Amino acid sequence: MIQDIGTGVFRNEYEKPEPCDEDIVFAFDGRTVFFREDQEGISVPTVRDLPDDKRNTKSLQFLFRLGGRACFLWKEDSLLEITGYSYGNLRRLRSAHPQDLCFAGETAFQLYGWYRDNRFCGRCGKPMHPDEKERAMRCDACGHIVYPKIMPAVIVGVLHEGKILTTRYAGREFRGRALIAGFCEIGETAEDTVRREVMEEVGLRVKNLRYVATQPWGFESDLLIGYFCEVDGNPTVRVDHNELSIAEWMDRESLLKENLQTISLTATMMDLFRRGKI
Ligand SMILES: [Zn+2]
Repeated sequence: MIQDIGTGVFRNEYEKPEPCDEDIVFAFDGRTVFFREDQEGISVPTVRDLPDDKRNTKSLQFLFRLGGRACFLWKEDSLLEITGYSYGNLRRLRSAHPQDLCFAGETAFQLYGWYRDNRFCGRCGKPMHPDEKERAMRCDACGHIVYPKIMPAVIVGVLHEGKILTTRYAGREFRGRALIAGFCEIGETAEDTVRREVMEEVGLRVKNLRYVATQPWGFESDLLIGYFCEVDGNPTVRVDHNELSIAEWMDRESLLKENLQTISLTATMMDLFRRGKI
């Protein structure tokens, strides 16, 4: 999955280092990321590529470390301009090699959105600034502190008589095959979310929930929680077409013909099913 970065090391302790030439720079504009693509694949700039007067913490916000190198966020309001690089669709990061750049990029994107959306205090309206000691935004006027937003959501593989219920979302950029999914609501356990989402999206009761794994998914500020479960009673599917375009039962053989990008928990769960690993 996207967080399995092989020999790479991700360290998210908050620091205040000065930028070094080899450090990595992430810049975003909406849902686009600043990158270059050549024969070696996708890459993002280093601090060395920046103009001399921008290689400092006035223009760069420390994010985390990747393999010992610090990763910084371009925090100027103006867009970054470096010959050979341009802003392009965030989803292109998925094809970055090594994969640690993809994981760092999506996590940087999560923090980009959080810094962008917390410039002003939600309690008193005054400007906020990064805290000195921890990854938080602080309002000096009223003392309000805001931490990065992480939204838990479930991914559900519903099973019945050797088949798994796969879906396609309605009205989303992602067109591939998916599983039932949804956000945890206030006052709800993740298991309650599984039961509610399956009922809402396809009209089924489920039982025998089994936890699979979690996955941080910075593209949407999510922490995804995977479960397999079984149909309890009537297996007739009633699709909510506001959420899904289709929902269909698939057996292992037909799912083996699908091209699955196992960087996602969803695809990993479908892969586990088709290889008989559940
Ligand atoms: Zn305030």
